[in-house]
Amino acid sequence: MTSQEVNISLPTGKTTKVPVGLFINNEFVDSVDKKRFETINPSNGKVITTVVEASEKDVDIAVEAAVEALKVWRYVSASDRGRLLNKLADLIERDLDELAALEALDNGKTYSEAKKSDLPSVISCYRYYAGWCDKIHGKTIETGYDKFAYTRREPIGVCGAIIPWNFPLGMQSWKLAPALACGNTIVLKPSEFTPLTALKVAALFKEAGFPKGVVNIVNGYGNTVGTAIAHHMKIDKVAFTGSTTVGKTILKASADSNLKKVSLELGGKSPNIIFADCDLEEAVKWAHMGIFFNHGQCCCAGSRIYVEDAVYDKFLEKFKEHTERIKVGDPFQSDTCQGPQISKQHFDRIMSYIESGKKEGATCLIGGERHGAEGYFIKPTIFTDVNEKMTIMQEEIFGPVSAIAKFSSEEEAIEKAHLTRYGLAAAVFTKNITRALKLSNELKAGTVWVNCYNLVDVSTPFGGYKESGIGRELGKYALNEYTQVKTVHVNLGIKI
Ligand code: NAD
Repeated sequence: MTSQEVNISLPTGKTTKVPVGLFINNEFVDSVDKKRFETINPSNGKVITTVVEASEKDVDIAVEAAVEALKVWRYVSASDRGRLLNKLADLIERDLDELAALEALDNGKTYSEAKKSDLPSVISCYRYYAGWCDKIHGKTIETGYDKFAYTRREPIGVCGAIIPWNFPLGMQSWKLAPALACGNTIVLKPSEFTPLTALKVAALFKEAGFPKGVVNIVNGYGNTVGTAIAHHMKIDKVAFTGSTTVGKTILKASADSNLKKVSLELGGKSPNIIFADCDLEEAVKWAHMGIFFNHGQCCCAGSRIYVEDAVYDKFLEKFKEHTERIKVGDPFQSDTCQGPQISKQHFDRIMSYIESGKKEGATCLIGGERHGAEGYFIKPTIFTDVNEKMTIMQEEIFGPVSAIAKFSSEEEAIEKAHLTRYGLAAAVFTKNITRALKLSNELKAGTVWVNCYNLVDVSTPFGGYKESGIGRELGKYALNEYTQVKTVHVNLGIKI
């Protein structure tokens, strides 16, 4: 073991070797200032380990590595880029159990969910973009008898990526896979709350055979490392996932520096609309998953549930029953549905939203308090008697807190759904196909789910309307975010 590696005992009984340095030029290195920060187990508030903390100086070093690597990487053949991404996916699959356990330890999500959902979607994301590498083409455009033009899809260059903690490996794959497929090099900052799995996967990039400097990872805080990436004059694009507040600062930083391209995946306050003519049993289960999946820490969480008045009481009774069955506790117990929130800071913020709901006159039907004596657990919470003026109906809580309201007509449902600055997702539950499609057209959201919730597929675009973001991740659409188009005009004989 080098000084940049630690052994971590996993609750599964195994021990895993985790690199804790900055990953630059395929090596795990110390930072210039030799600083470290702690990463905490949210189940008990105890330190798991410390990792090397970068500063602006380390970002400069990582960017230089990415600039140099670009000279090589952009000329690696498309099929070789695809082969490397597939190799990486195979290595992640080989280490799936270990990575899932480390993800659950650092983040607090359940081990079973990490194994059956997070890791498989990470693997399919790398495989999906491996398949795109040799299918990214320009076009030929006839512009006259003795002239024509063609376009090239070129990599943007050095891409900065800043990601959150709610799906650490998932968000890493959404950024790295399309960027690499398109021939870019990367400087990525994981969330300071969940740095460990990003570093473990960094080692797999090296093992897969990616050239040095193609992927660089700089651990650290948003106001230092994140700001340095957003302002860097040699970074050509920044892809950010996180809060709308920080997203706006990223856009400003681009304007104040080199007008780097920016894509933003931001927050949401998504409406879930349940009509009386739906399959109520199914709607209850999907709505439940829509808000409580990943402990409510989902950008697209269906946090505002609107139910048509004819079935409101029945829905509420069933939804409450379902919620009472959620087992909160140790993420490594196989029957646990909900682990802790990510940190003390996020726990306190969620609790203060719950207090504001109570103060502003909403009824807290169940939950509304901490679970257990240690760690950052919150009981699944349902608010009723809510209106759109309340803070809990306007702001993203990012925790296991649902708010349920009534509506009596399609028009009212749409009007209420739109009373937010966000537009990430929405859902409609009905057996009436005309109504389902009409509302899907009408709703101002980047994703609309019909009779389901939270189904995300690597082949379909994901992103937000309004203040939920700019640009699209996943699917073919993400290739636009990581390439720029060059037009070449060719003269076949025009004289001047
Ligand atoms: P956050 O905005 O606090 O942090 C996100 C990342 O930005 C972290 O890596 C953080 O260190 C960094 N950061 C913080 N301040 C920065 C600054 N001034 N300059 C540059 N970087 C900075 O968000 P979070 O608490 O980590 O994540 C939760 C938020 O992310 C929620 O709002 C959620 O909706 C959003 N999110 C959106 C999506 C999506 O796809 N739309 C997915 C996941 C999470």
